[in-house]
Amino acid sequence: MELFDVYSLFDITPVQARGCTVWDDKGQEYLDLYGGHAVISVGHSHPYYVASLKVQLNKIGFYSNSVRNPLQEELAHRIGAVSGYGDYTLFLDNSGAESNENAAKLASFHTGKDRIIAFRRSFHGRTSGAVALTDNPAIVSPFNAHHKVTFCQINDAAAVEAELARGDVAGVIVEGIQGCGGIHVPAQDFLRDLSRLCDRYGAVLILDEVQSGYGRTGRFFAHQWADVRPGIITMGKGIANGFPCGGILIAPQFQARKGMLGTTFGGNYLACAAALAVLDIIEQEDLMANALDVGDHIRKSLAGNPRIREVRGKGLMIGIEMTEAVDPLRRALLYNGHIFTGVAGQNMIRLLPPLCLTKAQADHFLRTFNKLLV
Ligand code: PLP
Repeated sequence: MELFDVYSLFDITPVQARGCTVWDDKGQEYLDLYGGHAVISVGHSHPYYVASLKVQLNKIGFYSNSVRNPLQEELAHRIGAVSGYGDYTLFLDNSGAESNENAAKLASFHTGKDRIIAFRRSFHGRTSGAVALTDNPAIVSPFNAHHKVTFCQINDAAAVEAELARGDVAGVIVEGIQGCGGIHVPAQDFLRDLSRLCDRYGAVLILDEVQSGYGRTGRFFAHQWADVRPGIITMGKGIANGFPCGGILIAPQFQARKGMLGTTFGGNYLACAAALAVLDIIEQEDLMANALDVGDHIRKSLAGNPRIREVRGKGLMIGIEMTEAVDPLRRALLYNGHIFTGVAGQNMIRLLPPLCLTKAQADHFLRTFNKLLV
């Protein structure tokens, strides 16, 4: 049997990794400024993370959500403390898309309404509801397209209010920073307007922090720079440093009902052990401060380059929009410079490195980037 051929692959086979470094099967070393798409938060194969998973696997790896799992309670307590959302509750699932599905479902249960407002250039995942909330017709099948979703422009509060005023909107979903759509940071006033409008019209503000959250911008969640408190916050990617895990934080006014949400694998012992290890490492190594510091350093160092149209983002979520298509540059960075980066659209190099990236590693990238641009 062959693989269903849906991924465009680089001809590289990573076999080992540590921190921000990846080695392939030929022994070639790479600097990882992509983090497996923002997933590697605390660094590849961090010894404490590896040890935590080993210890847990030797105790118990899996049981179902029909028994008590103290690790889930500990994780809820820890996320509450580090994020400042201690009064919220936690539901654990397996991925970013599933988190957004659960958020939309919960908003609909809570309000009794069935339409969701999303934004142009959004990406919320590939499952049925999540892909319907995603502004990319190429990945929305006719089956997915039946959801009631309206797209507004980001930062256009008046358009959102006009939709909310129709009375059938369960929720408004927005990324803390739009990632796949090209690193667009919503205006802080706009997020505050959304929060106020959702309260006024009885809708739920859902913050998708799957890519922008978990310390990447220097705050635990990107929206915390705007000082808003959403009804639901969705998480994934960096939460467990590569062990599949997702979750949603739910404001106190939401009433749980037995059976309302559920999952087989979500919140299993290994996912919780991985997620707890990630929080320990983020705290012990002060990785949120590092993300902010090294991210600022990269942004400042890129300023003034005439080939760059704009650098956007916050902390270690950085979009470098070039004046030309970036595919050749990205390939040169990978095959000549041995640096993994991401892209967004045609003209943007996207950096989503592990939060432990050092200034020396950032400088190595900057030197290579400048050399390859000439
Ligand atoms: N939401 C955002 C903002 C994302 O960037 C992604 C993935 O890139 C998702 C949701 C979907 O996450 P997953 O691929 O884990 O389902």
